[in-house]
Amino acid sequence: MRTLSKSMKNRLILAVSALVLALAALVALTRDTSRPIDGEAAQRLIAESLVHDAVVEGPYLYFKSAGTLYRVPTAALDMKKVYAQTAVTIKEPNPYMADLITLVVLLALMLYLLRWARKNREIREQQLSEQLQLAHELQKPADIRPMLSDVTFKDVAGIEEVKEELEEIIDFLRHPGKYHNFGIRMPRGVLLVGPPGVGKTLIAKAVAGEAGVPFFYQSGASFVQIYVGMGAKRVRELFQKAKQSAPAIVFIDEIDAVGKARGGMRNDEREATLNQLLTEMDGFEDSSGVIVIAATNKIEMLDDALLRPGRFDRRVFVSLPNRQERAAILRVYLANKPHHLDIDEVASMTVGFSGAALSSLVNEAAIHALKKGKKIIQLEDFTAVKDKVLLGKRKILTFSEEEKRVQATYQSAKAVTAWWLGIEFSKIGLLSDHFQNAEKEILSRSELLARVQVMLAGDTMLKERYGEGFTNGANDLKEARLIAQEMVEHYGMGEEGRVDAMAVESVLKEAREAVAQIIVKSREAVERLALALLEREVIEKEEIKTLVDDLF
Ligand code: ADP
Repeated sequence: MRTLSKSMKNRLILAVSALVLALAALVALTRDTSRPIDGEAAQRLIAESLVHDAVVEGPYLYFKSAGTLYRVPTAALDMKKVYAQTAVTIKEPNPYMADLITLVVLLALMLYLLRWARKNREIREQQLSEQLQLAHELQKPADIRPMLSDVTFKDVAGIEEVKEELEEIIDFLRHPGKYHNFGIRMPRGVLLVGPPGVGKTLIAKAVAGEAGVPFFYQSGASFVQIYVGMGAKRVRELFQKAKQSAPAIVFIDEIDAVGKARGGMRNDEREATLNQLLTEMDGFEDSSGVIVIAATNKIEMLDDALLRPGRFDRRVFVSLPNRQERAAILRVYLANKPHHLDIDEVASMTVGFSGAALSSLVNEAAIHALKKGKKIIQLEDFTAVKDKVLLGKRKILTFSEEEKRVQATYQSAKAVTAWWLGIEFSKIGLLSDHFQNAEKEILSRSELLARVQVMLAGDTMLKERYGEGFTNGANDLKEARLIAQEMVEHYGMGEEGRVDAMAVESVLKEAREAVAQIIVKSREAVERLALALLEREVIEKEEIKTLVDDLF
């Protein structure tokens, strides 16, 4: 009964009281309420003419006297005398009457009980569905089930570099044995870092779709439950299921909900969940064939433990699409819509739009054209709805002119520094960079330090030019710190081989001082490149060379 709800309890009480009442009625109906009296006393009352309403029923004579109903066995009386002294009616007893009453009452009771049971079931079903809905709302699906993704890379427009980086993972998922036989350690975790709406979820689905493996989706928030221990349990279940269906992809959206840096305000539940996640990832066999892809837009907030080797050690940055990529995305969404448009023009007026924002922009423009009674979508439809999409319910990241200038300066400083330090890259974008990972297996300390310098270059330039830092550097600062940490903790490249936080700080300081020197010398080059970036958004490396060659 513990699990019965209040309304069900009330119903139960009602049903039991109805039963009791029915039984009481049955007893009352069939019970003899008359007072027994012996033959002699009855005979006396009759002789004195003090009785009325005398009735013979079955073996008894019933009569009333002074308001009381009496009963006396006829056998105890001299009936001839009785008949002579008073009026007696003889009532044939109905032998079936009592049975009939019992039957009717029982039938009624059964009907009632049946209805009650049915009603109960309905209530229970309703409660169950309410619970399920609630669970769904809490993003706590009752069961962890994979989905089969039919998304492929064809559905993801632009972001060619991201696709290239993930090719290896796809191949691994298709042929895990191949890698295992060669003893190649595959990444266990890939962290997709980028602002909302740039297609991180879409990319993860596409990886699953391309590899033809099941896709387990979980949002980070759904792990952090109200009850301590629930989140950790869910993580365990998730990985258990994923291993059973391996090769498989586990996708954790908004991992920062779980993986926020510890310290400060303690949250036992989140910490327990995070620890479980770390344990699961450490416990993987390389051949388990499960790859965890997580998404975040706040890598700088993540607990360092998540970013250690063997965990999310592969980081893929997904940036807002550049002009060409926006054009590609627009083409995807305009493909099935009649339009007369210069898509490049639409692309150039949508700086800062994410893929998701572009998709809703196309939709709004189509609605606008329809409302105007037009058969095709035109540029004016886009200009008419652009602000609406920007100011719409969904918060869309976009840059003002001033923000664009800051960002262009930032990116240019990185590109010029990379060029100066000989770090490979194909091009630089207003919204993205394309620094390649070193092809070499063995890197020197100065090569690693150069990477740290590139990550610090934008921030250093902005501080030099505007006298203060800006928030756009957060990801790079985090990356710089991670490289510095690796240098200190794994490669013993800290000062005098020290392995502590101080050593990390001093590597960062060293890099900062070195990059400041470069920035001082290349201020003009950075300005020039920034202007070009503002105009064209993406500049190839070859062009950078011709742009700034005369300066060095
Ligand atoms: P994120 O996970 O980065 O927040 P999503 O993957 O949820 O972004 O993207 C939301 C939607 O935006 C996608 O379902 C898709 O419709 C659209 N979208 C985003 N990026 C792209 C892209 N590169 N190509 C095509 N559609 C995209």
